[in-house]
Amino acid sequence: MHIRQAVKDLRPYRPGRPLRDLEQLGIAEGVKLGSNENPLGPAPDVLRAIRDAASGVRLYPEPGAPALRDALAARHRLPLESVITGAGIDDLLDLTVRSVLDPGDNLILAHPGFVRYAVAAAAAGGEVRSVPGPAGAPYRHDLDGMLAAIDSRTRIVVVVNPNNPTGSMIDRPDWEAFLGRVPESVLVILDEAYFEFVEDSDYPDGTRYLDGPRPLLVFRTFSKCHSLAGLRVGYGFGPPELLEYLDRARLPFNVSVVAQAAALAALADTTGHIEKTRALARSEVAFLDEGLAARGWKTEPSLANFVFAEAPVPGLELTERLMRRGFILRPLISFGMSDRFFRVSHGTREQNERFLAALDEVTADVSSR
Ligand code: PMP
Repeated sequence: MHIRQAVKDLRPYRPGRPLRDLEQLGIAEGVKLGSNENPLGPAPDVLRAIRDAASGVRLYPEPGAPALRDALAARHRLPLESVITGAGIDDLLDLTVRSVLDPGDNLILAHPGFVRYAVAAAAAGGEVRSVPGPAGAPYRHDLDGMLAAIDSRTRIVVVVNPNNPTGSMIDRPDWEAFLGRVPESVLVILDEAYFEFVEDSDYPDGTRYLDGPRPLLVFRTFSKCHSLAGLRVGYGFGPPELLEYLDRARLPFNVSVVAQAAALAALADTTGHIEKTRALARSEVAFLDEGLAARGWKTEPSLANFVFAEAPVPGLELTERLMRRGFILRPLISFGMSDRFFRVSHGTREQNERFLAALDEVTADVSSR
């Protein structure tokens, strides 16, 4: 049987561990702080829409999710042809990379960065150019370095704002200077999975830059702030000529009946669920950041719904001991970092307090050995 060499060589993406791993340890009430999910869950209207849509699952979904795309286009005052939907950003990034990259072409990504892009590029037989942060700010995008890494085989440059796993933000002047210097033959992907969490007037809204001379694809998702990670629905804005090709290459029914209904209801929500989610993230990211810093962790300012932090003790044992106490964090080894680096998503205040208490206990165990 033949398997493509690029796939044989693939180091798969390792998502955060599921609650089932805790259940197998006999822990029924585990807390998952590893995948940047929203502890509040979806808005009540959205849950109702999900239940109502269940009766329609006999039928295939409408291909291309036209009602959802219409709603997204109207909300952003963009033409329908500039909007694409998919089974999360994961689906859309995969679709884009395999539509744009030929074997031997390259994709440029910040390190540390969202490694799903690197896996998708490698699966397509492409080369991944990881550009570390600039001297003195290792956890930020080095936009000049990313520009310098572009060559004649570069097809895509990925910017994640705020970045995962670091939570760092690129401000408007830096973004505009960068965008103005990317060659027009290179597609810029701006991943804004966490844009709803940002409360900073210098944050550049990617949808404002779609009219420029450079091809720009902006990705967003219902997984984070809207709390629909389990349904798989995300969207993108970009040049119609590119989206037309992506539309040909996508799976025909990539957004399910239930996901389309839920996303539409989430957009129509008037209960302030986004604001509640954002307020919780603001207070709890600050609480975790201070709590970790007080315990000797080195943290970075995060604009998203998680904290990026370096532990003062070896991380592997810490991870396992926290798991046995019911807490899943995200070690960043699979992001190419040492075992001491973690991404900690916030939970509710009660969960975060319990987490810090558990951390005190396990840290004492780990450091006393
Ligand atoms: N981009 C970034 C930066 C992310 O952090 C994530 C989720 N971990 C994704 C994309 C994937 O999101 P989705 O659930 O929409 O596939």
